[in-house]
Amino acid sequence: MKPGKKYKLETLAVHAGHGVDAGTGAVTEAIHLSTTFERDADGGYSRGFLYSRNHNPNRNALEAALAALEGGAGGAAFGSGLAAVTAIFQGLAPGDHVVAPADIYHGTANVLKHLFAKWGVTASFIDMKNLDTVRAAMTPQTRIVWIETPSNPLLQCVDIAAIAEMAHAMGARAIADNTFASPVLQQPLALGCDMVMHATTKYLGGRSDVLGGAVVTRLDDEHFAQLRTAQLFGGAVPSPFDCWLVMRSLPTLPYRMQAHCANAQKVAEFLAQHDKVSVTHYPGLPGNPFHALAARQMSGFGGMLSFEVKGGKDAAMALAAHVEIFTRATSLGGVESLIEHRASIEGPQSKTPQGLLRVSVGLEHADDLIDDLAQALTCA
Ligand SMILES: *Cc1c(COP(=O)(O)O)cnc(C)c1O
Repeated sequence: MKPGKKYKLETLAVHAGHGVDAGTGAVTEAIHLSTTFERDADGGYSRGFLYSRNHNPNRNALEAALAALEGGAGGAAFGSGLAAVTAIFQGLAPGDHVVAPADIYHGTANVLKHLFAKWGVTASFIDMKNLDTVRAAMTPQTRIVWIETPSNPLLQCVDIAAIAEMAHAMGARAIADNTFASPVLQQPLALGCDMVMHATTKYLGGRSDVLGGAVVTRLDDEHFAQLRTAQLFGGAVPSPFDCWLVMRSLPTLPYRMQAHCANAQKVAEFLAQHDKVSVTHYPGLPGNPFHALAARQMSGFGGMLSFEVKGGKDAAMALAAHVEIFTRATSLGGVESLIEHRASIEGPQSKTPQGLLRVSVGLEHADDLIDDLAQALTCA
């Protein structure tokens, strides 16, 4: 790619962070397992690498690629999505306050409640669909407003641009967990967010075979420098192989997301008209309360949906016990379709309805997925 030239997302997905190896001409990058790198005769590191916790060629490549896809000034990769979340909050000080959605990913809530609360960082978990509630929750100590849209598992959407503007008016930063949408469907930095966070474990990895996280920043500012410090000093970095695996998946991301969206739309439409299903949560359905907002700030409605089975937990468990193509498992974003009884993984405090099943719609043929759900619904 020519430096400085603007390219479309599909082109960036194939080329950003990739390059022919100058030494060998290899078109596909090597995996640099070396933890340490040779010094110059004068003691310097003119090739830019010293020790793999600080920098590694595979990690640099992944960070550059993700920054390009999200349209940011820089990226930092981590060993898991929650390691990325933790590094963000490590930039806060005792007394700082976070505003977060009540239906935030439960692992992110755990980080705030169980790791940072005892260091004096406070958090308010609120209904962010209502902008007045967001405004009322903000205090002079609020440093971060956390955005997650569409949310898990009810696929609720919030207005990214409006919340980012509100955060900035109060001197706070807006940070979005963009895991469910991916940079293909939603670009939070362009909508005004300061940082975007990903569990690369999900759509970016795309194969359910690598755990990882990343943060992309809009500006190369002191907050990003602080995040780098948390990454380098804290050391929660991904392995070179893990970075390579995510890089390997990025070129197909735009096409995978198109197919995930198309399949999810068909599955949602099937479920929405089924008489054993009381409600289907998918922003692509015209009757969904978040349809207009999602259509405005997303370029597709995503591959995640959930639905509630009439008959509560027993009916939901019976359905999940009878699927033949879907796999009963947590996580999302892989090529294979997954189905999950969400309340049981979230634990006893979960507010998720007991009859709810969450689906990560994969890349099988939509007709086969619908047939599978149809036969399993007869057992519900
Ligand atoms: C999975 C997930 C995370 C956490 O990522 P891990 O890699 O499991 O640590 C954070 N946010 C969302 C929305 C997720 O789905």
